[in-house]
Amino acid sequence: MRTAPTMLRRDRNRPVGLVAVPPSLIINKYDVILVGGGPGGLSSAVYLSKKGLKVKVFEKKKLLGKPVRCGEYFPVKEEMVRLLPRVKCIDIIDAPDDSVDSKCKSIRLVSPRGHEFEFPFAAYILDRHVFESHLGDIARSNGADIDVGVQAHFYPDEEGGWVGPTREQADHGEIIIAADGYPSETAERAGLPEREYAGPYTVATNIEYLMTDLGVEQDVAEMYMDPRYSPGGYGWIIPKGHGRANVGIGIREPYVRRNWQIRELLAGFIDKNKVAAQRLRGGQKASLIGDSLPVDGPLARTYTDRVMAVGDAAGMVMPTNGGGIQTAMITGRLAGEAAVRYFEEKTPLSSYEEAWKDQIGLEMENSKRMRQASDRLMGHGFVFDMMLRLMGTKRIADVIMCQVPSGMGLFVNMMA
Ligand SMILES: Cc1cc2nc3c(=O)[nH]c(=O)nc-3n(C[C@H](O)[C@H](O)[C@H](O)COP(=O)(O)OP(=O)(O)OC[C@H]3O[C@@H](n4cnc5c(N)ncnc54)[C@H](O)[C@@H]3O)c2cc1C
Repeated sequence: MRTAPTMLRRDRNRPVGLVAVPPSLIINKYDVILVGGGPGGLSSAVYLSKKGLKVKVFEKKKLLGKPVRCGEYFPVKEEMVRLLPRVKCIDIIDAPDDSVDSKCKSIRLVSPRGHEFEFPFAAYILDRHVFESHLGDIARSNGADIDVGVQAHFYPDEEGGWVGPTREQADHGEIIIAADGYPSETAERAGLPEREYAGPYTVATNIEYLMTDLGVEQDVAEMYMDPRYSPGGYGWIIPKGHGRANVGIGIREPYVRRNWQIRELLAGFIDKNKVAAQRLRGGQKASLIGDSLPVDGPLARTYTDRVMAVGDAAGMVMPTNGGGIQTAMITGRLAGEAAVRYFEEKTPLSSYEEAWKDQIGLEMENSKRMRQASDRLMGHGFVFDMMLRLMGTKRIADVIMCQVPSGMGLFVNMMA
């Protein structure tokens, strides 16, 4: 049963704003409409619905989280506390047991020449379909409407805007949250600088196989710095239990030499990277996915009077490691909190941007600068390899975890 709203300004049992006839013209009014039911949108929906707001989520996939387009690597809460120490809502970083396929205890980085650097880092490997379905169930049980299988578009007006498959079939929301991933049509229609963000260095293209019948270690996630087969990015082997692993590469266009296709690069990584090929011998390729990812830090502006952008739609991916599930959840939650302040106290939505800058801004900025600094070396396998060896395991771990390594601040500033 839905609990009594703590702060809603309307009787939520009465369908607000229903127009009598014809049925095709029935208008549903919502406090908040979210475009996109990934971890960012669903985290907002969970928070907002628990607060008693009238919430709707549009998700174009027929099933939440499926098909999976992700390595599904999800650092545990204790690691996130170290990584993002100022986040106040860190308790949301959790995954129910049935959404966890396996657990990793460390990360191993493999250099271009096959040197290995391993450090402890605990993470769950998720089944994102189960994980996102779980978030969806919580939001629904608190009264949120979630329409799956609907590709929705945003039609702004002065009181928020309309969202639906067409303008005629749209619902009205006072606040709209763009949680539709990258690139976000919703953010762009709201006038946020989504298009200005796009660029060959700022967006990575990722492609990944789910592989089976593997003998890879099941508790170590591996990152491969390999300019030949993951130019401008890295390759990964993320074990998923029962001999399975997500095996992929991320690349950026300026680093791709000749006319190579990304599938050929992934095949090269699997068959020809000396270390990876050995690990993956005998494995079967079960399914292939690909997607683009913003890796230049947050958009220059993430809100308007009535719209906030969260997760990938706002560029909230950690540029040095490409991780975005957690930052999507955190920014989704922070946007939810800002929406509540808006309805309770008329606080402008700028409070959302203030909150994320305060809680994750420094780490996102550090991570972006370190990505920019390493951009200068990434194309040169030998130099990059030497640099990694000079840095050693502790400093490599710092960079991956968005911290400027001790003694390297000046170097990063000069190179970025
Ligand atoms: C190959 C690959 C591997 C990755 N591996 C990892 C990893 O291991 N760990 C990690 O932390 N991050 C990883 N990431 C990044 C991570 O997947 C994203 O950062 C994260 O999913 C962002 O969450 P989100 O909710 O912002 O966006 P998304 O998860 O992209 O969710 C957006 C949702 O919006 C929906 N949508 C889009 N447009 C519309 C529309 N018009 N109407 C309705 N619905 C719409 C989409 O279907 C999607 O479900 C990876 C990314 C890729 C591409």
